[in-house]
Amino acid sequence: MEKTKICQDCKKEFKIIKKTRYERKYCDKCSQQRKKDYENIHNVTFEDCDEE
Ligand SMILES: [Zn+2]
Repeated sequence: MEKTKICQDCKKEFKIIKKTRYERKYCDKCSQQRKKDYENIHNVTFEDCDEE
C-alpha cells in the first residue's frame, strides 16, 4: 500500500510504502541528508567529549 506524502524539507511529493507504523516526514534524499547531519553532530559531540 502506497501513500503520497509531502517532504517537510524540500516540499516535494514522495511515496512511502505503508508497512510500519512509523511514517516518514522526509523524502529519501532529505532523510539521508538529515541522517548525515545527525551523525556529524554526534561525531563532533563524541570528539569533544573524548578530548576532555
Ligand atoms: Zn525532501
